[in-house]
Amino acid sequence: MNSFNDFKLNRQLLNAVSDLGYETPTAIQQKAIPVVLGGQDVIGIAQTGTGKTAAYLLPILRLLNYAQENSPRALILVPTRELSIQVGNALKELTKYTDLRYAVVFGGQGAKEQIAAVSEGIDLLVASPGRFLDLYLAGHIQTKKIKYLVLDEAERLMDKSFISQFHRILEVVPRKRQNLLFSATMSELVKKIAGDFMAFPIEINIAPEVRTAETVSQVVYELPNIKTKINLLNYLFKDETFKKVIVFCKTKAIASDIGKYMERVYGLDHVRIIHGNKTQQTRINAMQAFREDEQLRFLITTDLASRGLDIPDVSHVINFDVPIIYEDYVHRIGRTGRAFKTGASLTFVTPADEYHIQKIQELIKQRIEKVQLPEKVEVLTTPYEERQEMLREIDRQKRKENPDFKGAFHEKKEVHGRKEVHGRKDFKSVKSKKR
Ligand code: AMP
Repeated sequence: MNSFNDFKLNRQLLNAVSDLGYETPTAIQQKAIPVVLGGQDVIGIAQTGTGKTAAYLLPILRLLNYAQENSPRALILVPTRELSIQVGNALKELTKYTDLRYAVVFGGQGAKEQIAAVSEGIDLLVASPGRFLDLYLAGHIQTKKIKYLVLDEAERLMDKSFISQFHRILEVVPRKRQNLLFSATMSELVKKIAGDFMAFPIEINIAPEVRTAETVSQVVYELPNIKTKINLLNYLFKDETFKKVIVFCKTKAIASDIGKYMERVYGLDHVRIIHGNKTQQTRINAMQAFREDEQLRFLITTDLASRGLDIPDVSHVINFDVPIIYEDYVHRIGRTGRAFKTGASLTFVTPADEYHIQKIQELIKQRIEKVQLPEKVEVLTTPYEERQEMLREIDRQKRKENPDFKGAFHEKKEVHGRKEVHGRKDFKSVKSKKR
């Protein structure tokens, strides 16, 4: 299952996936989507950052197919406000070409709007347990039609503060339903409770291989923008020990731009580009050439190439962009240092990536050494558009950590009627490095 097209999803969902820029299904998606579509109960062991949300939403959306009746047919229970908002955001994107309706309800704020959203008629309900029960007991939620029950971050739903509510909810939803349980770890408690209410669940364990290859040295460079990243590439590539290099980019567009640039500078014989828009055959040929042809120094690619590839003798992996699926970091750097050879990975980090690199370090339980940008690398100013996009991304991250965060970006945008953002700490630190 190398492509979303291999699943029995429909055009509306595939288009939404494509708009989101997802090229390849993640490990949990590859394993869970067919099983959920097949109607079986699932216990998925997967952390946040593995793509688990789409792993359960996509097949459920496919099974629900189109808007029907008014009471929810899928209930997604989540332990926190942040997660309910995140799942709501994912639903917004994934349902955009369908007529499926959803509502998100959680505690800590007034119920009025949430009640209104539910009473308009919905197909899916995302809820924290306490607020779900409040609304149910007050008669705002009908449970008779619920056919799919998802427990996201189940290990937290089953801790002491929630467990009685959780049992209560199980009493009020129909017995005949499909259950999907996702948890970061498979604790004894999760196992026991899952055993109590699931019949013969399929267990899918993709707990990431958090140990990064010990033979790979890892460093991080902090820099402000794409142009400076390119300057750093050029500086590094003067060194001939960079003899077989994979450069990972976050999107097809960036891979394509950087690839073409590299072709111009280093010559067509030394560069190959691989991403999801290339045909399967082109990708296979490029990969084979990179493996066998000594002259070919650079492979520019997206995460398409990070999973399960075996290319011997890769000297360096460069993360031109920090991966958003944190597990991919481990996959990417695992492309070098294979078979007892040593290798190096270099990760380029902009202010908008600080958050992600932090999360990656938590995942691999390791600090990655920061190295100074070499003096000779010219640091360029960040173009307006790129800077705005980074500020937006930083706002998104802050909102993820704190759903009440209003977004400095939008507030400050209008200050003095100018579309400039001043005094952002995140950028000051980088700007001060300018020489
Ligand atoms: P999750 O683990 O569900 O919180 O997802 C982590 C991040 O990965 C989210 O920002 C998703 O939008 C993104 N994501 C999920 N699936 C994919 C995929 N197949 N390719 C690229 N990004 C993905």
